Amino acid sequence: MKLVVIGGGAAGMSAASKAKRENSKIEVTVIESGNFVSYAQCGIPYYLSGVVENHEKLIHYPLSEFVEKRNIDVKTGKSVEKVDFREKKVILKDGEKISYDILVIATGASPKKNKFNGMKNTFFVRSLDGAIEIRKQLHGNRIAIAGDGVLGMELAAELSSHGKNVTMHSKHDSLFPVVDSRVTEGMIDSFKKRVNVKLNSTVENIAEKDGSLMVSDSTGSVQNYDHIIFATGITPNTGFLKGSELELDASGLIAVDDGMRTSNENVYSAGDCATSFNRITGKPEWHPLAQVANKMGRVAGSNIAGKIMHYKGALGSTLVKIFEYEVGFTGLTVEKAKKNGFNPKEIFIKGSSRANYYPGGSPMRLLMVYDQDTGRILGAQISSKDGGAWRLNTLETAIYSGMDMETLFYNDLGYTPPFSQVWDPIITGASLSMRD
Ligand SMILES: Cc1cc2nc3c(=O)[nH]c(=O)nc-3n(C[C@H](O)[C@H](O)[C@H](O)COP(=O)(O)OP(=O)(O)OC[C@H]3O[C@@H](n4cnc5c(N)ncnc54)[C@H](O)[C@@H]3O)c2cc1C
Repeated sequence: MKLVVIGGGAAGMSAASKAKRENSKIEVTVIESGNFVSYAQCGIPYYLSGVVENHEKLIHYPLSEFVEKRNIDVKTGKSVEKVDFREKKVILKDGEKISYDILVIATGASPKKNKFNGMKNTFFVRSLDGAIEIRKQLHGNRIAIAGDGVLGMELAAELSSHGKNVTMHSKHDSLFPVVDSRVTEGMIDSFKKRVNVKLNSTVENIAEKDGSLMVSDSTGSVQNYDHIIFATGITPNTGFLKGSELELDASGLIAVDDGMRTSNENVYSAGDCATSFNRITGKPEWHPLAQVANKMGRVAGSNIAGKIMHYKGALGSTLVKIFEYEVGFTGLTVEKAKKNGFNPKEIFIKGSSRANYYPGGSPMRLLMVYDQDTGRILGAQISSKDGGAWRLNTLETAIYSGMDMETLFYNDLGYTPPFSQVWDPIITGASLSMRD
């Protein structure tokens, strides 16, 4: 069997490696438009800030691991322009045609580009090739970030922590609205002390002047920066499939089932270019996240090799470090829970990460959403300088396994003063729900 994988990122390399591991007779070819495969895209903000000294550190495995050890043919610097699904061939930009028996499309996503794309000192962050170029040019000190989503906030905090004078342009009237403002309160106060924040500010025009950028925004202000980074969302890399027979959803994602099979029986898809589904609602959803991509890729590769796996959905669990804060969210918000037929209630807790007498603790703000009819926990959001990440992941595990608040209350979390309070905020939240 000839397996061709388009895209050498998390999903593509997982699919290729798993298929080969399960059945070494499968001939696997990966076609990757960039110069690197299997690298940590999530490490790019830390490479741009200098915490990660060189790009080699972001590469999980050298090319030789795939080519020599795993016997996978990896073609880098080759872009697929079209797929001929009838003839079962991929057509590369340079005209070469490569035939397949089974195809995996794992082309990921790209930043949403705007009219400023291509201007000097104007950047969009995604690939390692792109990040290397950005770092070569990022010598100025005054940096604007447009977009206060997870990536924008992470980049702003990272660059500010490493000496840059950063200004955040947010189109919203409050910063970082993806997380509830009660949860982010302390984090945002701290952020505003270190990053200039412009709310209700959409970048409308950029002019180059004496090597720097004059940036005009919707508030009428004009600011002078050395660089601007747009982090204003992403879009799936499926443009080359438009007009083909392959089923895409309204936002251009490739529709897949829980085995990563597309509408064409010879084609699978995985990662940021494909639909995932919500573990709680069962509805298709987009989860452009690293672990999801790796798992979808593994499911695709395994099924192709004949060892059947079923993808079980995700919760969109997101963790981000914003300065010293560990911020995260998972599962449903109260609004989304209502839309999906639940009878949700929120519990908001201001707690502490450690026993009050033990040094080094931090306030912790936690929001939990649960269904009042069944007690099932549906969602959580958290922010703390200490231990936020492990609480978020504990709650994610509870939500993923369908736990109710009473079971969460009795859940036997380990306790010792340097790591939590006897009544950890998680347990306090669960106990409050039992008073209803
Ligand atoms: C800066 C940054 C930070 C992130 N941080 C986090 C984080 O902290 N946590 C988290 O969970 N997720 C994070 N993510 C998201 C995560 O990296 C992605 O969800 C994940 O990499 C998706 O894997 P993928 O294989 O679907 O896509 P990608 O890793 O993007 O791989 C797709 C590959 O396909 C190639 N390709 C595209 N079109 C073609 C074509 N026509 N022909 C040939 N090759 C093609 C691309 O060059 C690319 O290498 C981050 C992403 C970025 C950009």
